[in-house]
Amino acid sequence: MATLIKNGTLITASDTFQSDILIEGEIIVQIGKDLTHPSADVIDATGKLIMPGGIDPHVHLDLPMFDTVSSDDHYTGHKAAAFGGTTTAMDFVVLEHEGFKYSVDLWMEKAAKAAIDYSFHMNLTQFSDKIAKEIPSLMEMGIQTLKVFTAYNGRLRIDDGSIFKALRIAKENGMLMMAHCENGDVIETLVQQALADGHTDPEWHALTRPSWGAVEATLRMAAMAEQADSPVYIVHMNAGGEVDMLRYARERGVKVMGETCPQYLFFTEDALSREDGSKWICSPPMRTEMDNARLWQGLHDGTLQTIGTDHCPFFFDGTQPIVYEGKEIAIAGKELGKYNFTKIPNGLPGIQDRMPILWTYGVQTGHITPNQFVAYMSTNPAKIFGLYPRKGALVPGADADIVIWDPEKRVKHGIAQSHQRTDYNLYEGWELAGYPEKVFLRGKLIVDGDKWLGKSGDGQFLKRGIGEIL
Ligand SMILES: [Zn+2]
Repeated sequence: MATLIKNGTLITASDTFQSDILIEGEIIVQIGKDLTHPSADVIDATGKLIMPGGIDPHVHLDLPMFDTVSSDDHYTGHKAAAFGGTTTAMDFVVLEHEGFKYSVDLWMEKAAKAAIDYSFHMNLTQFSDKIAKEIPSLMEMGIQTLKVFTAYNGRLRIDDGSIFKALRIAKENGMLMMAHCENGDVIETLVQQALADGHTDPEWHALTRPSWGAVEATLRMAAMAEQADSPVYIVHMNAGGEVDMLRYARERGVKVMGETCPQYLFFTEDALSREDGSKWICSPPMRTEMDNARLWQGLHDGTLQTIGTDHCPFFFDGTQPIVYEGKEIAIAGKELGKYNFTKIPNGLPGIQDRMPILWTYGVQTGHITPNQFVAYMSTNPAKIFGLYPRKGALVPGADADIVIWDPEKRVKHGIAQSHQRTDYNLYEGWELAGYPEKVFLRGKLIVDGDKWLGKSGDGQFLKRGIGEIL
């Protein structure tokens, strides 16, 4: 089976040019002008933009949290991703006491319903001599990344000494450490104080997680990266000061990279004071307009490397069912914390929104160029996480993960367009100029306008190799 996409404008991380693309089977076989093929399906892409499929490096599908579970699984989340132009998603394996292999196997079972390609990061939430010895086995499983937390005392956090030891092991094995940067000790103290003082509203979520903690922990991780000579990737950067710290470290040659997420670019902690403020509860919290601006600047000047989503949706009101693929479904959500902000499940939907929102409100507004858009959405994550050039590239030999983008399409975004399995959308009513029209996963057309042609089980697990340090 072959597909020939004619007359489109290709956008890569470095170039913009007119070309045809020939796909045979699952692979791009030729890129050039005036291509022909005796039997290919021909798609006229005149006036359309062609980009490599998006790679979302940070999602949480089917993740148990606070007596419920994130409301998208590996099928619904992947389907939503595809409608937004994303064809690869990476989520995080919960480390069980039984060890890495057992934990990965559990996640493989969950992901058997995958509809786009996927890979895993390993949450390093426990540390011991035994775990230290087992870390290299993750590379054999195709998992090249460990995530640590400097917050969530007694649950997810390991101490700095353990992080430092793990960094050295990562270095020896060509692995990459990812870090959630906040100050767990300060947060625990402030949360206890707030609850003792009777503060239960959502705004206290932000008030008890100050941005200085994120800034300090980012510099701390960068310092450890330097001292272990081992690279670190800071997830979901949210505070302007974190960008300053990233820049400070990178200017001194420290191997540290940064990811931000759409919610930290567009919203502030003020959202938490709304009547429906719990919709905006995520960790770390959103900050201020000055922080939004500094993050945009970090994208503009290339201090940051990627935009992930941290997609971890919950229903706003999980007592009321929605209809998804013709069936009613309700999953307990934000209402669990109605009387206590510490019990509101932390997380937001965004896997479908990421590319369309960033195109209109990032590229059209001049914050980033179309080529930077492709770099942050696809090529850089592919490089950093060991998938390049199989993913993230429009070159012969690459997987034919391709988005045909219609720059003329006008969409009023929101729950009506959304395939994210939840009852709200953060960008409800936002006017979009440009939207994915056709999306291919390894040569197979899985989204065609409003039509879903993908299916559960289409997605493949991607074994990743050693990544690049950008
Ligand atoms: Zn996350």
